Amino acid sequence: MSATEYGTEPTASGTAGVRATAALLEEVGAPLKLGEVDVCAPAEGEVLVRMRGVGICHTDISARDGIFPVPLPAVLGHEGSGVVEAVGPGVEELRVGDHVALSFDHCGECLQCSGGHPAYCDAFAPLNYFGTRLDGSVTMHRGEDEVYGNWFGQSSFATHAIASVHNAVKVPDHLPLELLGPLGCGFQTAAGSVLNVMEATAGEGIIIFGLGAVGLGALMAAKAVGCDPIIGVDLNHERLAIATDLGATHTIDPSETDDFLWKVQELAAPGLHYSFDAVGAGP
Ligand SMILES: [Zn+2]
Ligand SMILES: [Zn+2]
Repeated sequence: MSATEYGTEPTASGTAGVRATAALLEEVGAPLKLGEVDVCAPAEGEVLVRMRGVGICHTDISARDGIFPVPLPAVLGHEGSGVVEAVGPGVEELRVGDHVALSFDHCGECLQCSGGHPAYCDAFAPLNYFGTRLDGSVTMHRGEDEVYGNWFGQSSFATHAIASVHNAVKVPDHLPLELLGPLGCGFQTAAGSVLNVMEATAGEGIIIFGLGAVGLGALMAAKAVGCDPIIGVDLNHERLAIATDLGATHTIDPSETDDFLWKVQELAAPGLHYSFDAVGAGP
């Protein structure tokens, strides 16, 4: 579908948009339900993205379960990737047809944003958690009813999402677009921790607990800078195999050892420089 094949019919919001299928959270703790929503046309500084892939982050699950309160009905999803189908007024950074990965939104203007720290944007909470734009308007409707999108500036558990020029990042066309969504949360969180916070360097040892998107992102960053050893820990053997493929020098299934600490000592005496916890659960 090209950008000109839709968007001529006004939606309930009174703007030209697109009918989309979304995974709706209607009740805390309930399974998401597929349903149709009208996604509005992109406003100033926004882009409409046809989603090609989206990761599932634990934060989405926390919102579904009410640990992280969101207004309902909501559309979650914040590791989306797709193709720009329409651009709003004033958008010069992106064009129709661009491949983009979506991350958290930020204002781009406050002291934190202009200082290179968009994750600490003054407007981070209202831009990412409140289900509306800053002016209180919503990007999705179902009939006459408002649906709360804008989750992390995207709500990408849908066939289409509204994002902004600040959180839609152009990616090369030749990359497998459907796999790039986790760059926007899990991978960048992990890689940023290893590269910018730990500032790990070649020859330093790291152990990584939990080998989902975050743990594997940390592992790839550690591998990229030459960490050694790199120990991956998980109960899931498929994940351990992926970790080995991605550069783990050793892997441990803690359920298979009676003395975990001794096992680590055996592998990495006299010790490791860094420990990275991506399990996200208590003991
Ligand atoms: Zn996330
Ligand atoms: Zn800001």
